[in-house]
Amino acid sequence: MTMEYRTEFIERIERTPTAISYRLKMPEHFIFTAGQYILVDLGNKQAHPLSISYCPEETEFIEVTKRMTGSPYCGRLESLKKGESITIKGPVGKFCIADSSETLVMIAGGIGITPIRSILTSLEKKKGNIGTVILIYGNLNREDIAFRDELENIKIADFHLVHVLSDNSGMENAYKGFINADIISKEVPRSSSAHYMVSGPPVMVEAIKKALATIDVAEDQIRTDIFLGYS
Ligand SMILES: Cc1cc2nc3c(=O)[nH]c(=O)nc-3n(C[C@H](O)[C@H](O)[C@H](O)COP(=O)(O)OP(=O)(O)OC[C@H]3O[C@@H](n4cnc5c(N)ncnc54)[C@H](O)[C@@H]3O)c2cc1C
Repeated sequence: MTMEYRTEFIERIERTPTAISYRLKMPEHFIFTAGQYILVDLGNKQAHPLSISYCPEETEFIEVTKRMTGSPYCGRLESLKKGESITIKGPVGKFCIADSSETLVMIAGGIGITPIRSILTSLEKKKGNIGTVILIYGNLNREDIAFRDELENIKIADFHLVHVLSDNSGMENAYKGFINADIISKEVPRSSSAHYMVSGPPVMVEAIKKALATIDVAEDQIRTDIFLGYS
């Protein structure tokens, strides 16, 4: 059964010109696993699923991060007043990591970074036993990279961050274009046991699944989080 909680809006943090984080007070007895999402119900039939974008080790607040599209829902988010009461339902979802020392390849398209950031910040805080972690992160341009500083400085022993930008001006260390099979093959050591986690808009997730199939990654090695609502 999905649980329902009352919470309140604490603060807003601008991550990029089009990605805003909203922090909500941690409700009593709310427990989640990194990678899960909640339904954020702002009343008036305005409810969307949003991944929790920070780790469960944080006990004061829950954070979600929304790509701003100018929709009525975004307008309602922007109108939230500090202390305003809202309803959340969840947590829901199985986009979570298994305890394993196998190579973990995370592939995020734009705002699809949210559950992955939750997992990575959780791994950093837990300092647990984890093998190689590779994040391949696709965005439009360098201004569009949410959580860039944090991800570039994350303290996970064997962590590699690969930027892929449609326009890589000012960031020549980034691949130019879209994430594809060539980039994945170059960045990921061949291993039949690596786990892949792919998160982003439906079109992007489908394209990556096809790309992975061409380099012989089996379907059961891939876990996806599909952000319905984006084309
Ligand atoms: C599991 C999951 C996690 C998500 N996490 C995030 C996140 O962390 N950050 C983020 O920015 N977005 C996330 N999304 C997408 C988010 O829920 C919205 O669908 C998306 O942001 C579009 O909403 P909007 O307010 O911008 O536009 P809207 O105008 O409200 O929606 C755009 C179009 O998509 C349709 N639509 C909206 N939501 C859904 C839905 N859930 N299923 C099917 N169609 C829909 C609408 O009917 C409309 O036609 C997630 C979606 C899912 C399913």
